[in-house]
Formats: sequence, structure tokens, C-alpha cells
Amino acid sequence: MAAKIISGNEVSQQLKDEMKEEVAQMKAKGMAPCLAVILVGEDPASKVYVSNKKKACEYIGIRSLETVLPKDATTEQLLDVIDGYNKDKSVHGILCQLPLPKHIPETKILRAILPEKDVDCFHPFNVGLISIGEVRFLPCTPAGVIELIKRGGFETGGKDVAILGRSNIVGRPLSNMLDQRNMNATVIMCHTKTKNLKEKCLSADIIIAAIGVPEFLKGDMVKEGVVVIDVGINRVDAPGTERGWKLVGDVEYDAVKERAAAITPVPGGVGPMTIAMLMKNTLTAAYEQYGK
Ligand code: NAP
Repeated sequence: MAAKIISGNEVSQQLKDEMKEEVAQMKAKGMAPCLAVILVGEDPASKVYVSNKKKACEYIGIRSLETVLPKDATTEQLLDVIDGYNKDKSVHGILCQLPLPKHIPETKILRAILPEKDVDCFHPFNVGLISIGEVRFLPCTPAGVIELIKRGGFETGGKDVAILGRSNIVGRPLSNMLDQRNMNATVIMCHTKTKNLKEKCLSADIIIAAIGVPEFLKGDMVKEGVVVIDVGINRVDAPGTERGWKLVGDVEYDAVKERAAAITPVPGGVGPMTIAMLMKNTLTAAYEQYGK
């Protein structure tokens, strides 16, 4: 049977449409959710991300604020901006676009954002809440992965899930989320020191690939009927194309699709979900700060 293609473009659009209605209802009750985005420097990719976040806010009806600091801004200047947004009661979510210039310590900056406004869910307090099953926010990309599994029509309860990659942004929080009592998966966490990785993948009902190695997961590494979520975004050479490059995931898509029950494409899979989940976190933050 042909694999179901779980489209992140479609699911994220559904989510944004749902949130648009939700925001209209919030506004009718006197709530005006607001996200503040801080960008340091002129990194072209970061500028695109920030502009996409602004567009999503506009679509849903979330007020968005933006502060752009020059690339040689000091840590203190950035902390001052964060402090201003922390104190501003009309701002519910704060996001500092990464990566930061090398002279600014990322950890210090991310921890300066008040946990209740930390819509990226990078603050250790919010990460800790997930570990003990008391969720306030979910980190955006992992939350997008779980939403794709659910809206694709698949359960995680009682399933063996292999996660490839243990980064603090993707693999680690996913592992924390999936083995909680509301998800009930059994997680097999894999990384560069994992032995017999192929066997572990072959035993998994669901595989989430987040390692940043182009087309790493091959067709002979998955069992029939597996659900595969590909988080990887890798730019590889594509001679003869107009741009000379293309995006591929961490999964050898065509081969794995032959055996899978469902699979996400790259691009158009997990990628578009991240911003949708950021919007969701902004609404969560607004409800909490309005005491609703
Ligand atoms: P990362 O911080 O570089 O971490 C990579 C992880 O993969 C590490 O845990 C590493 O293991 C593991 N790994 C690398 N090569 C491996 C191999 N050959 N076998 C087994 N494990 C291996 O990466 P990341 O930030 O999580 O990103 C992963 C991918 O997801 C990238 O392609 C990135 O662009 C993409 N991504 C997409 C989104 C989105 O769609 N919105 C968001 C974030 C990331 P060790 O710990 O042992 O080194």
C-alpha cells in the first residue's frame, strides 16, 4: 500500500486557521496576544525566519513587535531589550532569534527571558517542567513532530519510537515528551555512539530522524508499516538545477516511502510546523498572563 504523505504545509495551515478563530474569540474577551521578536545582526536566514514569524502573527491576528540590534551589539544591550519586554505587560511571548553573534553568550540570553514569556521553550525551568510531566510550553519543532503524528492519524501509545539525534532542540525534548503518561511511547534514543543502530531502527514502529545527515535513514533500515518523521533539513548540491542545490531530509525518502505506512516530506514536512507551534505557545502564554 502506498505510504500516506503527512503534509506539514497542510497541517500547519489547519492549525493557523484554528488559531485565527481562537484569537478572534480571545479578542472578544479582551485579550490581545502579543509576540516580541529580537534579531541581532543581518544573518539572511535569520531575517527570513523572523519575517515568516511576523507573517504568521499577522495571519492569525497576534500583535507582533520586533527589535533589530546591530551585529556588534553588546550582551548588555540585548539584556536591556529583553528586560524591557519582560516588564511590558502587553507582551506575552519573547523570542530571541538564534544563532546569536559569537561574542554574545546564548545561554545567558535565553535564561534572561522570563519563563512565562519563553515561547521557544528553551529556559531550563520550562524544560524541567516537561521532564516532570507538568507542561507549560512545548518546544516548537518537537511539538510540531508530535502534532504531525497525531493529525496524521497515528497513536504513540504502546509504540516503540526510535529517535535519531539527541540535541537539546529536537531529540532530547522529544524523548522527554514521548515517554510521558499522555504519550506512552517506549523511546529508543540513538546518537553517534549507539551500537547496532540499524537493528534499533528496524524494530521501531515510529522513527524520528533529527541528525542533520542527508538521507541517512535508508530503505533497508526500516520495517514495513513504519511511520517516519523527517526533521532533517540539509542543503545538498544539485548540479543542473537552476539554484545548483536542493533541500533533502535525513531520510532517503523514495526508498523509505516504499515500506512506510506514512512519511513526512522535506521540504513541506516538519519545517512549516515549527512556526505554527510558536504561535500556539504565544496563545498559551497570553492565556496564562491574562489569568485565563
Ligand atoms: P545537532 O544539534 O547537530 O545534533 C545532531 C544529533 O544527531 C546529535 O545528537 C548527534 O549525536 C546525532 N548524530 C549525528 N550524526 C549521527 C549519525 N551518523 N548517527 C547517529 N546519530 C548521529 O542537530 P539538530 O539541531 O538537532 O538538527 C538536526 C537536523 O534537524 C538538522 O538537519 C537541522 O537542520 C534540522 N532541524 C530542523 C528544524 C525544523 O524543521 N524546524 C528545527 C531544528 C533542526 P551525538 O550527540 O552523539 O553527537
